[in-house]
Formats: sequence, structure tokens, C-alpha cells
Amino acid sequence: METILYLAHTEEDGSLSKAALEVVSAAKDLASGLSGSLAIGLVGRDVQAAADALAGCGAATIYGASGEAFAVSRYSTDVAALQALCQAAKPTLVISVADSRLSRAMPGVAQRLGGRIDTHLTGLSVKDGQPLATRWYYRQRMVADFNRPQRPWFLTVDAGCFAAYAGAPGQAQVQAVTPVLPVERTKVLGIQSPAADQQTIRPDAQVLFVTGAGWTKKQADGATHVPEAAALILGFLNGTKASLGSSKSLVDMGGEGESVLPFLTHLHQVGQTGSTPRHPKGLATCCHGEEPHVVGWRFITERRAVNLDAGCGWARGKADVLYVTDAFALMKRVNELLG
Ligand SMILES: Cc1cc2nc3c(=O)[nH]c(=O)nc-3n(C[C@H](O)[C@H](O)[C@H](O)COP(=O)(O)OP(=O)(O)OC[C@H]3O[C@@H](n4cnc5c(N)ncnc54)[C@H](O)[C@@H]3O)c2cc1C
Repeated sequence: METILYLAHTEEDGSLSKAALEVVSAAKDLASGLSGSLAIGLVGRDVQAAADALAGCGAATIYGASGEAFAVSRYSTDVAALQALCQAAKPTLVISVADSRLSRAMPGVAQRLGGRIDTHLTGLSVKDGQPLATRWYYRQRMVADFNRPQRPWFLTVDAGCFAAYAGAPGQAQVQAVTPVLPVERTKVLGIQSPAADQQTIRPDAQVLFVTGAGWTKKQADGATHVPEAAALILGFLNGTKASLGSSKSLVDMGGEGESVLPFLTHLHQVGQTGSTPRHPKGLATCCHGEEPHVVGWRFITERRAVNLDAGCGWARGKADVLYVTDAFALMKRVNELLG
């Protein structure tokens, strides 16, 4: 029988992130599909609130490694805590979300416990009584379902693949574990991040809004209109709270010293050498829709594009709807309608 351990860290306020709750659903489904047992392991300054949130999820035991040392993301203390949780639960399968903190620590835990790890999974299922992991390869061009005989098998699951667990909270009994603390050589002084309204990459947004190099090109009047483009793009983002993406051509312009939209960075780049975000809908503007870009749209369910060129890549089976029109005029009208 498989023993499944779900691992998570708490957020600053003691809660679990939405992405972490999504993987609770995955672990729960896997445990019931395998008729296995489910345990929870939590790391954080104080894990009681997170444990209470999972009180009704069907876990046999909730283990906790708590204390000031575990309040922050730090490889040495995270690995020590996760290792202690695994040693307490003795799992055959260990599941967590593939966020930055756990993606950094989980491979080290797998190594210390003589296990194997597979990362960035997008699905977990059961076939013939065996756990099956799903993962995309070669920049999301190929997908594979596979399992492994080795145990413990560590699995980290990408955000956006399961519905978040939303069971009723309760009063959880947390079984405390005491990790062997490493010599502390790294002090976390704080986190630097942009203000919420400057943060334009929004993984939970309903819509991905993609900008292409056309926004900076000469238009019908023979001139460029970059400040107007910036106002239209930011107007749409502010009005909809969509997530901002870009083609490679547009983000590269900043590095080449050309006039460029200042709020775009390489982190916004979608595509083969960029990101593969997950959103229910996507709207591409002034972007040609070439394959190395569109491969990053693998997980965008409904795709629309705006382009002056009726023969652009989007017209060749890459979008559900292509509006052949001027994106400046169209987005101006859309923003007016958004108020
Ligand atoms: C190995 C490799 C990896 C790559 N990886 C990536 C990647 O990760 N991501 C990526 O994006 N690209 C990637 N590329 C580059 C990719 O092939 C394209 O060159 C790039 O996506 C083009 O960007 P674009 O569509 O914004 O620009 P362009 O091709 O210049 O297209 C601009 C578009 O804007 C339209 N336009 C102009 N004005 C208007 C207007 N007023 N209204 C409406 N439409 C207008 C034009 O008709 C045109 O179609 C990669 C290439 C290679 C070789």
C-alpha cells in the first residue's frame, strides 16, 4: 500500500497558498485512487492555522515542523524540516507544489533519503493500481505519462492543474517533529518585490494579454506611437487585471536600446525560450503568432488575436478568433467600454 505524504510551507500570514491547496486536491485524489493513506507535513513559523484549514481533508496524521528558523525560505532549514517530516511519516510517495521554495528544497530531500524526484508535473492519476505522473517535455511539445519503481518517489506539481482544496476547516491535532537544525550560514534579510499594482504577471488572472513588436512599429501615418501604446496596454491591464505577456521581439528591444515599453521585462516573454503560462483566455495584440511564440500558449484554453495582417500566424490554426484590424483603434474602444 502506498503511503502518501503531502508537504507544504505556510505563507507569511500562516495560510497556505492557492497553488499549495491545488496540490492538496491532487494528493487526496491520488490517495483515494490508490487506496493508500494520506499524511500532511507542514513547515512554517506556526503551522496550526494551515493544519486547521486541512483538518477535513482526510489525512490520517498532520505533522508540523514549526519555529522561527522555518518562517523563511532557506535551503538548509527547509531541507532539514522536510527531511524530518518524511522520516516521521515514512512515505512511499511525497507530493508538493512546484513553487520556488519547494522546487529548491525537494530535490535535496529526495537525495538525502535515497529517493527519486520528478518535477513540474501537470497531472497525477492511477492506472492498474499504480501511480502515474504526467509531464510535458521539449518546451511543452510532447507529453508523457510514466511511473517509477523507486520509493520514496518525490513529485512536485505545477500550479494551475487542479482545483484548489476548499474543505471546511476544523481543529487539527498537529504532531510536532523536531528537525536537526543545520549550522546557520544564510540570513534572510527580507524580500524585495514590486508593488502590487506594478506586478503585471498575474498567474491567477482570467486573461493573458500579450503584446507584440507591432506596438512599437511605424503605423499607417509613418510614425511610431510608443507612449500611446503604453497607455493603451496599461489602461487595459488596469481595467481588467489581466496578466501581461509579450513576444520575444518586443522584450528584446529594451536590450538593444530601441524605444520600448518600460514595464516589459524578459520575465514577460511567452514562448519556446520564455514561459508557458496557464489562463482560461488569451488575447494577443500586434504579435505575429509565430510558432516559437505560440508554443508558449499550450495551456491557454481560448485564444484570440488582433493583427493587421490576415495572413499572420494566428490565422493559420493558432487562434480561435483573429480580429483583422488596427490594435490601437480596437484597444482604445475596448478601454472606453471598460470605463
Ligand atoms: C530558437 C528560437 C526561440 C524563440 N523563442 C521565442 C519565445 O520564447 N517567444 C517569442 O515570442 N518568440 C520567440 N522566438 C522569436 C519568434 O520566432 C518571433 O520572431 C517573435 O515571436 C516575433 O515577435 P512579434 O510577433 O512581436 O513581432 P513581429 O514578427 O515583428 O510581428 C509584429 C506584428 O504586429 C502586427 N502589427 C503592427 N502594427 C499593428 C497594428 N496597429 N495593429 C495590429 N497589428 C499590428 C504586424 O502585422 C505583425 O504581424 C524564438 C525564435 C527562435 C529562433
